[in-house]
Amino acid sequence: MTTDWDAGRLDSDLSGASMDTLAVRAGQRRSPEGEHGEALFFTSSYVFRSAADAASRFSGEVSGNVYSRYTNPTVRAFEERIAAMEGAEQAVATASGMSAILAMVMSLCSAGDHVLVSRSVFGATVSLFEKYLKRFGLEVDYVPLTELAAWAPAFKPNTKLVFVESPSNPLAELVDIAELAALCHSNGAMLAVDNCFCTPVLQQPLALGADIVIHSATKYIDGQGRCLGGVVAGRAEQMKEVVGFLRTAGPTLSPFNAWIFLKGLETLRLRMQAHCASARTLAEWLEQQPGIEKVYYAGLPSHPQHELAKRQQKDFGAVLSFEVAGGKEGAWRFIDATRLISITANLGDSKTTITHPGSTTHGRLSADDRAKAGIRDSLIRVAVGLEDVVDLQADLARGLAAL
Ligand SMILES: *Cc1c(COP(=O)(O)O)cnc(C)c1O
Repeated sequence: MTTDWDAGRLDSDLSGASMDTLAVRAGQRRSPEGEHGEALFFTSSYVFRSAADAASRFSGEVSGNVYSRYTNPTVRAFEERIAAMEGAEQAVATASGMSAILAMVMSLCSAGDHVLVSRSVFGATVSLFEKYLKRFGLEVDYVPLTELAAWAPAFKPNTKLVFVESPSNPLAELVDIAELAALCHSNGAMLAVDNCFCTPVLQQPLALGADIVIHSATKYIDGQGRCLGGVVAGRAEQMKEVVGFLRTAGPTLSPFNAWIFLKGLETLRLRMQAHCASARTLAEWLEQQPGIEKVYYAGLPSHPQHELAKRQQKDFGAVLSFEVAGGKEGAWRFIDATRLISITANLGDSKTTITHPGSTTHGRLSADDRAKAGIRDSLIRVAVGLEDVVDLQADLARGLAAL
């Protein structure tokens, strides 16, 4: 960004600043107005001083804003803040989490490349690979996330990219990111981690060896269920390609949504702490209740990857799942008996949500694929929000009583 104006003391010196400070201040460059809060730049294009100035900016000879499909100061502030928090050289914001995944694959892979995807990824991610990207000559195979022994033989000479979610949705399964990253690199592939459930506050995949981090900012980064957005972050060399794709194809982030996310990042750690504390309380309580057959939450010592979660994450996240007695009927009765919690599939909201994955988020999978993903008919997912945990427990107790 070129500017004639020297912000001087008006901008903060963030050298050596830690996560909480970066979350509040990184990426902000004040305008000549000296505004304290982050400015929201609602403009599709930018003016030039002369025809010659326009020509040199269009040619890229002089850097600077041209058009908001290319750059926007509010979007850039969000990109710089999330990059600082993920420890990435560069972050690129996108219109949604799905367009972040699309932009990554379109800019880094070509027809004939092979991609490995963990079996338990977000439903739309599977559809994107299966229904669309395969049509353009991408080879895609799926590997069970938790079985490290299954990963090594899945690589091919043309494996370019490995894509995982850890923890996964809805069963909170993990993969050892450092170990998988080493395996990817020894096979000449890049590792991309969808860090949506942890956010940089609980887990920094790049520090563990991953090459790319993906976010659906729609979830905890917004935190209040208002806006869609996404992020791709990693090394500048690869992000340059992602920027090139976005400029051309257009799924860029709206400056308004970027502004919401900037403000969301400021409270992210405090919110995640509260989300996680309540999720843990509820998981521990649910595990003791008759009628609950199994609880999936990495914060429970009964979770097979509890030790890995303790090592790899700062906390265990706020999405928990459980199986109830009575199969699908039991699960639906439980859900319908709640009166406070919202019946909706979103997550990462201050409002707690409850959903039946088997008939909603994973409803379009075949029964066989659902079974492979471990999604039983009796499974319920709760994304714990910020209400009083006592009220949440009372509401879940209504569900239990209905079983
Ligand atoms: C929601 C979600 C996505 C997709 O993000 P959108 O912002 O809805 O496009 C991708 N990955 C995970 C893990 C998600 O939860």
